[in-house]
Amino acid sequence: MAPVPRKHFDYLVIGGGSGGLASARRAAGVYKKNVAIIESGRLGGTCVNVGCVPKKVTWNAAFIRETMEDAKGYGFDVDVKGFDWRHFVEKRDAYVKRLNGIYARNLNNDGVTYLPGRGRLLGDKMVEVDEYTPEGEKLGTKAVYSADHILIATGGYPIFPKDIPGYEHGISSDGFFEIKEQPKKAVLVGAGYIAVELAGIFQALGTETHLMIRGDTFLRHFDPMIQETLTKHYETGMGMNLHRQSKQTKIEKDEKTGKLRVHYEDSNGAGVLEDVDTLIWAIGRAPEVGDLNLQKVGIKQDDRGFIVADEYQNTNVEGIYSLGDVSGLVELTPVAIAAGRKLSERIFGGHKDSKLDYTMIPSVVFAHPEVGTIGLSEPDARKKYGDENIKVYKTSFTAMYYSMLEHKGPTSYKIVCAGPEEKVVGLHILGLGSAEMLQGFGVAIKMGATKKDFDNCVAIHPTSAEELVTLR
Ligand code: FAD
Ligand code: NDP
Repeated sequence: MAPVPRKHFDYLVIGGGSGGLASARRAAGVYKKNVAIIESGRLGGTCVNVGCVPKKVTWNAAFIRETMEDAKGYGFDVDVKGFDWRHFVEKRDAYVKRLNGIYARNLNNDGVTYLPGRGRLLGDKMVEVDEYTPEGEKLGTKAVYSADHILIATGGYPIFPKDIPGYEHGISSDGFFEIKEQPKKAVLVGAGYIAVELAGIFQALGTETHLMIRGDTFLRHFDPMIQETLTKHYETGMGMNLHRQSKQTKIEKDEKTGKLRVHYEDSNGAGVLEDVDTLIWAIGRAPEVGDLNLQKVGIKQDDRGFIVADEYQNTNVEGIYSLGDVSGLVELTPVAIAAGRKLSERIFGGHKDSKLDYTMIPSVVFAHPEVGTIGLSEPDARKKYGDENIKVYKTSFTAMYYSMLEHKGPTSYKIVCAGPEEKVVGLHILGLGSAEMLQGFGVAIKMGATKKDFDNCVAIHPTSAEELVTLR
C-alpha cells in the first residue's frame, strides 16, 4: 500500500548544510513557498560544524601565535608562554553552537519547516523521515512527506584508507575538531586543502608535525608556482617534517599510553614514527548518499558515487535536484550557497535561465601563508590556448612585513594571460593577506579584465597587492 504523506510541501530539501539552507530560505523567504528542510545532524552542515568556520577560527589562533613570535622582531618584549588548547576549543565550540541557534532562528523567520531526522527517497516525490531530536537523537518514529520539488544537498564525508592495517586508529578532519588537548606529535596524510591547512595550523601552534604526501609537492591541482613555493616553505621555512613519495604500511596503537606507531615508506626508505598523539587522514571526501535510496528512485551517480546534475542542478529524475558536495563539482561553501539560491530563483522565481556559472571561481587555502587562486594554472592555460597565445607575468619578493624579522616568508604572484588582448585567465597568489586580496581581483577577472586593466588601476602603496598592478 502506498504511504500516506503527513503533509505536502512545495519544496522539500534533504540536508541542512550550506546549499540546502540557502536554497530553502530563498524559496520560503523570498518566494513565499511552503518549504521544509530535513537535517539529521547539526544545522549548518559541514562548513559551520566541522569545516570552514571552526577551521578558520583555529587558523586565526595559529596566525596570532606566529604574529606574537614576530612581535619580538618589532621590538616587543613578549614571551609566548603557551596556548590553552582546551580553553580555545571550548570557546570555539560555544561559537559554533551559537551559530546553530542562529540558523534555526533564520529558518523560523523565513517560515521554513525544520524536520530533524534522516531523509530517504521513496519515489513519487515522497520522502520518508526517520525522526530525530534537533540534538540528533533518534526518536524511533518515521513520517512521510511529499513535495512538488525535492532537493538533495546531503554533502560528503571524509574517506579512510581501509586497506591500511590499523587505519582506524587515525581520525579525519571531523575528529580534528574534537581534539581536547593539543597533540605533541601529529601526522597528517594527504596533499589537498585539508591536509595543508591542518598541518600548517599544528606546526604554527608548536606541535611536531609530519605531513605525508604521495608525490613530491602538495596541492598538485594548483599552479606549479604555488605547489613548489609552499611545499618548500612548509619544510624549510616552517620546519615541518615532510615525507615525500610516502605511503603508510601499518598503524599500531599502544593501548597503555594511547600513542600510535605509524609505519611508513617514503623517499628515504622505510621508517616508523613513534609516540604519535594524533594521526589525521585527509585524503579526500566521498558523497553522502548511503541512506538516500537513490537506486530505487533511479537517480544517476557517477563512478565515484556523486549525484549527476546538469548545469541547472536537475538530476535525471524530473523534479529532483542536487547540488553542493554531494554533486562533487566544486566543493566549496559559497558554491553550494550560490547554486542553491539560483535553483530556487529558477523553480520558484520565474527566472527560467537562472543557474550558477561554475567557471572562474576563486578559492583560498588557509595555509601559512595563505594561497589564493582563480582560473587556469599556467600548464592548463597553455594546454587550452596553446603556448604561443599565453603570456605569464610573475614575481617573487619579500613583503615589507618581514623587513624587521630574521625569518622571511614567501610572497609569489602569477598572472596568466591569453590572446593578443592579454585577457587574464588565471591568477595565483601566495603570501600574507592573499585570502582577503583575492576577492576583489576575482570580481575584475570574472568581468573579463585584461592585463591592461590591471595596469590601469593605480597602485596602493605600500602593500604587497600593488605588485599585481605593476607587473612587467
Ligand atoms: P554540507 O554542508 O555537508 O551539508 C550537508 C548536510 O546534509 C549535513 O548537515 C548532513 O548532516 C545532512 N545530511 C546528509 N545526509 C542526510 C540525510 N539522508 N537526511 C538528512 N540530512 C542529511 N569551503 C570553503 O568554501 N571554505 C573553507 O574554508 C572550507 N573549509 C573546509 C574545511 C574542512 C575541514 C572541510 C571538511 C570542508 C571545508 N570546506 C570549505 C568545504 C565546505 O564545508 C563544503 O563545500 C560545504 O559545506 C558543502 O555544503 P553542502 O550543503 O553541499 O553540504
Ligand atoms: P582534496 O581532494 O582537496 O585532496 C585530497 C588529496 O589527498 C588528493 O588530491 C591527493 O593528492 C591526496 N590523496 C588521495 N588519496 C591519498 C592516499 N591514499 N594517500 C595519500 N594521499 C592521498 O581533499 P580534501 O579532503 O583536502 O578536501 C576536500 C574538499 O573540501 C576540497 O577539495 C575543497 O573543495 C574543500 N575544502 C576547501 C577548503 C577551502 O576552501 N579553504 C578547505 C578544506 C576543504 P595527491 O594526488 O597529490 O597525492
